[in-house]
Amino acid sequence: MEEPQKSYVNTMDLERDEPLKSTGPQISVSEFSCHCCYDILVNPTTLNCGHSFCRHCLALWWASSKKTECPECREKWEGFPKVSILLRDAIEKLFPDAIRLRFEDIQQNNDIVQSLAAFQKYGNDQIPLAPNTGRANQQMGGGFFSGVLTALTGEPSSWS
Ligand SMILES: [Zn+2]
Ligand SMILES: [Zn+2]
Repeated sequence: MEEPQKSYVNTMDLERDEPLKSTGPQISVSEFSCHCCYDILVNPTTLNCGHSFCRHCLALWWASSKKTECPECREKWEGFPKVSILLRDAIEKLFPDAIRLRFEDIQQNNDIVQSLAAFQKYGNDQIPLAPNTGRANQQMGGGFFSGVLTALTGEPSSWS
């Protein structure tokens, strides 16, 4: 008549939960995909129109089209678009492996690296050298690659 205590084992199984699956709505890479490369956003850069793209996608688009407009809706953007720090940090926390892989790909692609460097240089030219900007512009003094790294990461020391 006595049932074997199977439920004990089941309880143990239930307690091995995975953090992303157990709490809140499901979040997948596709929620944070770039409409240029259809992959996860790397250094998401948000334009005046509100659309976000990988920084390198925007740099490639800008370098090939020579236009300062959104690749998706063609609205012109002004000044120099910045990386959306909050979005970038959230994506890096949610999908660290995917981001790391993409960073490696990007750094090995000469076209991307050169476009990013050119884009960053263009951006530096856009910003007037006001004494009270708080953050000094990154000088290219560290050589080509430090400039590229800055362009890739948006912040000089976020990937060490
Ligand atoms: Zn992209
Ligand atoms: Zn747009």
